[in-house]
Amino acid sequence: MKELVCIVCPRGCRLTVDEEQGYKVTGNSCPRGAEYGRTELQNPTRTLTTTVCVAGGLHRRLPVRTNRAIPKALLPAAMAEAARVRLQAPVAAGQIIIPNLLGTGADLIASRAMPAAGA
Ligand code: SF4
Repeated sequence: MKELVCIVCPRGCRLTVDEEQGYKVTGNSCPRGAEYGRTELQNPTRTLTTTVCVAGGLHRRLPVRTNRAIPKALLPAAMAEAARVRLQAPVAAGQIIIPNLLGTGADLIASRAMPAAGA
């Protein structure tokens, strides 16, 4: 049995997941919590949010995120990939910065537009 707090919504239900009963989840107030509990024990995933370098823009860092959750174990490697990025402004909101990040099928995308400085 493993206890965890559901992070899918602000209600924060306290979940219990029983690995020996087919990852049966109790304590959830909705089906999303059951799905979260099962996934968290078998293959935890997270959406990566970070910033990357951008030159010639209004700011020197651009907020980026993955367009879907990736395996939690890959977050350090994904951060290292993001740290290597060097962009040139302008950048459009939603622009793909790294396609198929680490072969996960998720793209790293711009969370906002970054106009060129003085534009
Ligand atoms: S189980 Fe449902 S209601 Fe409870 S925190 Fe998770 S998503 Fe929210």
